[in-house]
This record gives sequence, structure tokens and C-alpha cells, in this order.
Amino acid sequence: MSTLGNAPLRFQPLFRRYLWGGRCLATVLGKSIGTGDDYAESWEIVDHGPDQSVVLNGPAAGQTLQALVAEHAVELLGQHADQSQFPLLFKFLDCNRDLSVQVHPTDEQATQLDPPDLGKSEAWVVLGAEPGSKIFAGLKPNVTCESLRAAIEAGTCDHCLHAIQPQVGDCFFIEPGTVHTLGAGLLIAEIQQASDITFRLFDWNRVDVNGKSRQLHIEQSLATIDFSRGPVAPQKPLPTGRAGRERLIDGGKFILDRCRGRLPKPLGDDDRFHLLAILDGTVEIAGETFTAGETCLLPASAGRLEATPDGMATFLDIYLPGTAKHAVKAGMLAPSSAIDTSPLQSAALTPLHIESLDSR
Ligand SMILES: [Zn+2]
Repeated sequence: MSTLGNAPLRFQPLFRRYLWGGRCLATVLGKSIGTGDDYAESWEIVDHGPDQSVVLNGPAAGQTLQALVAEHAVELLGQHADQSQFPLLFKFLDCNRDLSVQVHPTDEQATQLDPPDLGKSEAWVVLGAEPGSKIFAGLKPNVTCESLRAAIEAGTCDHCLHAIQPQVGDCFFIEPGTVHTLGAGLLIAEIQQASDITFRLFDWNRVDVNGKSRQLHIEQSLATIDFSRGPVAPQKPLPTGRAGRERLIDGGKFILDRCRGRLPKPLGDDDRFHLLAILDGTVEIAGETFTAGETCLLPASAGRLEATPDGMATFLDIYLPGTAKHAVKAGMLAPSSAIDTSPLQSAALTPLHIESLDSR
């Protein structure tokens, strides 16, 4: 058995309270939050500076995710062991009020910042949507830098945004440079690059109890927005060739699959970590039981595992695109039999990975 053990790693969530939060992290997702009515985010799995997930179970209990990456990179990350931090951040968001309108930079833009950071691709899966609630994703066609600047100055930025009334289960992929925000009445599962660079271009003309508005970053926003991007539509789920598993996103920074049904689902066994988020029902993995609203991380070294639903269940399976050209091409998950038998093949992954990182 490896140092990390073969069981899924559970982490202590970190809660964030913002003016747009509410109570749904407790009432819907079962989180043990305090008594306030502004619980906005539950950071489930994060390694970003001082924001650190701490392991709750197994031989690594008490360690931060940063320490696991530093001391057990091969076990945890497998073929992605050369990452210097855990590359993804998973959150639940309770959008009880509108969030600010924002944009995130690309990796290339983010490296120019002081301090440098990663860019941010992010994706949302809608877990709850009150009637009439809206997602704003992308600019309307023909919005230019000049017309957006004029709208911001006039306090009518929202007129430039593409708005959708989402359904539960919809998935949106927000690439860097895309203007976006979440409207009131949504409960969201969010996966993103482990970055915290946000440029806010509009805050709905809101002021706090002291009459102060939140800081905007209009020039940085306008310089970061990709004006060639139009409206963003919900992702079309694609078949994976594996029963009960569909692909919501096959992006350059992460792959997002949704698994549904009553039958056991094979997991992992591909020399990379898997981040799981249970959205509905109950599943058992390696003797640990997870219910809706819980998340876990399967270390690469855990090998082949199985998620066994208790009745009907839905969960997200999030992982990095593969690095070995012979095993995984363009994010398509290889049949596990292609990589589960030969240690020589695993040893060959490392140099290919370095090549593919350099060319990004
Ligand atoms: Zn964002």
C-alpha cells in the first residue's frame, strides 16, 4: 500500500462569506456552516497559497494538500507529478444574490501579473435554479471594447451580457477572457484552475451599508476580455463509450465527466488523480460512503477503484488531460486495459509529459 493509502481522500471544506451568499450550503448540501445568512462558497479541494485543504482521513490526515503535492507528488498526481501545486480548485457556490460581472485572464496574461498566478478556466454545473434565475455568459454579438466601456460608465453593463435561464444539470464552460457572472437563485458546482485572479467590471451599481461600492478593475477587465467570443451556450454532453458516463467538458485544463445511474462505475487506474463530487444520491468507494454535497480526491496511486451507488446516484469525475500520446489523445480517456498492466509504460510517461507542457 502506498503512503497515501488506497482510499479516497476527504478534506475539510473552507467556507467563504460574501454579501451574495445564503444558507443553501447547509440546507441543500448538508455543510456544517455557522449561523449567518451570507455563506457563499465552500472551497472543497484547494491548494492556493494560504488557502489549503486539510485531509480528514487515512494515513495523511492533518496534512495540507500543498504538503501532499510537495511530499507525495508521484502517488498523488501520477503522470502529472511535475506540477508544483494542485492544479484545480473545486467549490460549491450558493448565489443568493447576483455576483459581480467579471473576467479572468489566460495563463499567459496571468504570468505578467505581480505576483504571477495561473489563468482561470472555469466550469459550472447547475445544481439548483429558482424560476427566472439567470446565468450571464459571454457578451452579446457585436459588443465592442468601446460600447462595453460606454455601458459600464452609464451603469448599464448588463445590457451587453448574454443571459440564459439555466436548467438544473446544465453545464457552462467559461474560458479565460469570457465575461460572466451568476445571477441570484442558483446553486452551482464549480471547477476551475487553482487561481484567484478576478477582474470585476460591474457590480450592478450596488453599494454597501456605508454607501461604498466594491472596487472595479475596468481597465484590466477591458484588456483581458476576448471580444471575439460571443454568447456562451450550455455544453452538449457527449458519449464516452463507457456506460453511465458522459463528457461535459474536454478542455485543455481539465476534463469533466458526469456519471449517473445505479450500476457500479470503474474509476481511476490511469495514473492520474480524480476529483469526485457527489451531486445526488449515495456512492461507496473503497469502503467510504459519500453523499450528495461531498467531495473526495482519488490519488493516482489508488489504482482501480469502483464507485458503487446505493440506488440512483450522480457524481462528477474531474481530472487532467492525459500527457502520453500513446495512451490518451486529446482528452479521450483510454480504455483502462491500455494502461493498467505495464509498469514500463508508466515509466515512459514522464518525458512525454514534459514535452507537452513546454508546447502549451
Ligand atoms: Zn469567474
